[in-house]
Amino acid sequence: MGNIIDGKVISEKIKDQVKKELELLKSKGITPKLVAVSVGENPASIVYMNQQKKNCEKIGINYEILQLPENISEIELCDNIEKLNKNQDVTGIILQLPLPKGIDSRKVQSKIAPEKDVEGVNPSNMGWILYGRAIIGPCTALAVKEIIEYTGVNLYGKEVVMVGHSDIVGKPVALLLVDKFATVSICHIGTFDAGKLEEHVKRAEILIVAVGKANLIPGDWIKEGAIVIDVGINKVGDKIVGDVEFDKAKERASWITPVPGGVGPVTTAILLRNIVVLTKMQKGV
Ligand code: NAD
Repeated sequence: MGNIIDGKVISEKIKDQVKKELELLKSKGITPKLVAVSVGENPASIVYMNQQKKNCEKIGINYEILQLPENISEIELCDNIEKLNKNQDVTGIILQLPLPKGIDSRKVQSKIAPEKDVEGVNPSNMGWILYGRAIIGPCTALAVKEIIEYTGVNLYGKEVVMVGHSDIVGKPVALLLVDKFATVSICHIGTFDAGKLEEHVKRAEILIVAVGKANLIPGDWIKEGAIVIDVGINKVGDKIVGDVEFDKAKERASWITPVPGGVGPVTTAILLRNIVVLTKMQKGV
């Protein structure tokens, strides 16, 4: 049976480092401040922001919500972002998604100053990943890399299969790992529709799944001894499950993340780390 990766342990390790950096900043009279920009009333966003607020304030990062009306225009929203970019007290900006219909989220994200873009979604920060010179990056993608490193595996020449090709998880994960000289395949709906998902997954020494479909990956597809990172979050009845059939997969994997309690807590900690990294950069610490 594989080792079950406790995301909370990795998360605490990252947070300990963040606390040290915050002490250093505090000694120079600096407290990071994160502003979440929220458009309209989205119940899921409110839950998410309250959680962010709790996490930030608990560790010593100021947190504010800028609530904007549902009918705001794209130009007005971008103006609000520009104001935050110029505000010296604000060291981090998050744009809560989804945005109302008619607003191009990628366009608005591109207005966030790269040095305040704590979620790593600005094209400039994405581009640094492509160059293999990322200072920060999308939190979940960095979390996946952190978890793989935690297992102690040497990525050089390893067969990695990334299922899911989203801008914030699949694509950046693939780039981050290819820079460690892993051989990375990216699978997606096209792979599935072509009936080829199983053959790819079965040869993965490291399998990462970020799709959002409960039990998409049957446990018996997992190669013996593989590392399995399950990013998916799915509600089945009153339970939260991942994309991998966990109970069977854990019998074959050498390491596996549970859902919940795997990637999620590490992602949260990486956000705090990104905030501190960018605050230090802005303030020249
Ligand atoms: P997305 O929803 O933007 O895209 C889904 C991807 O899955 C696409 O690449 C699509 O082609 C692929 N796909 C869809 N059906 C497929 C199939 N049958 N076979 C193979 N591939 C298929 O992706 P996302 O935003 O990265 O989110 C993916 C999942 O990860 C969701 O469940 C989301 O909630 C979760 N998530 C978790 C965290 C975390 O911190 N734990 C963070 C972000 C996303």
